[in-house]
Amino acid sequence: MSQAGETGTLFVISAPSGAGKTSLVAEMVHEDQKLGVSVSHTTRPMREGEKDGINYHFVSRDEFEAMIGRGDFLEHADVFGNYYGTSQVWVREMLATGRDVILEIDWQGASQVRRLIPECVSIFIVPPSAESLRDRLVGRGTDTPEVVNRRLSEARDECRHAGEFDYLVVNDDFKEARADLLAIVRSQRLQIGAQLSRHRRLLSQLCGESDSTA
Ligand code: 5GP
Repeated sequence: MSQAGETGTLFVISAPSGAGKTSLVAEMVHEDQKLGVSVSHTTRPMREGEKDGINYHFVSRDEFEAMIGRGDFLEHADVFGNYYGTSQVWVREMLATGRDVILEIDWQGASQVRRLIPECVSIFIVPPSAESLRDRLVGRGTDTPEVVNRRLSEARDECRHAGEFDYLVVNDDFKEARADLLAIVRSQRLQIGAQLSRHRRLLSQLCGESDSTA
C-alpha cells in the first residue's frame, strides 16, 4: 500500500468452482494468524451448512443494489446470476492496521481490485485435471446436473483468466498446495520494502547510523 507506515498486503485468490479454494483458504487462515479473510456480501441463497456472517453476508438484491449506490463495495460482480461484493471499509481498515487480507473472489472482481490496488498479490488455483474438476463438481452433490454443467462451463471461462494472476497453484496434493500458498504469503512479507519499514532501527544500527525517528 502506498500510505505511510506499515500496511498489510492484499491477497486476491481466484479459482474455478471445485478447485478446493475455500478449503485451502480456511487452512491458510488456521495456519497463519496474521491473515484475515474478507466475508463477502451475496444475493445467492444460503446453502445447507452455511451461516450468515460466516460464509457470506446474505442480502437481498435490493439491499445489494443500495450498497452499490452508497459505494460500499471495493469490487462487486455478477457471478452465476447472483451478485457478490467485497466490503470496502472492512478491507481498507484491516490493511491500515497492518493485517494481511485474503479476498476469495472471481476473476472479474480480481481485475477490479488489481486496478484499484495494483500492489495486491493475486493467486490463481487450479485442479490437477479437467476430470478431477468434473469429479469435484459432481461429488459435491448439492447441485442438479444442469447446474453442474453450467458450473463446468463457467469454470472453463474462469480458467481462461489464469494468466492475469501473479501466481498459479495446482491443487493436486492438498498439503503441497497449502504449503505453496503459505510460501507466497511468507515471501511477500520478506520483500525489501516491507522489511525495511519493519526493521528500520536494526538496519540503521547495523549501518552505524543513529535513527532519530525510531
Ligand atoms: P459460491 O457461490 O460458490 O460460494 O461462489 C461463486 C463464485 O463467486 C466463486 O468464484 C467465488 O470466488 C466468487 N465470489 C465470492 N465472493 C465474491 C466477491 O465478493 N466478489 C466477487 N467478485 N466474487 C466473489
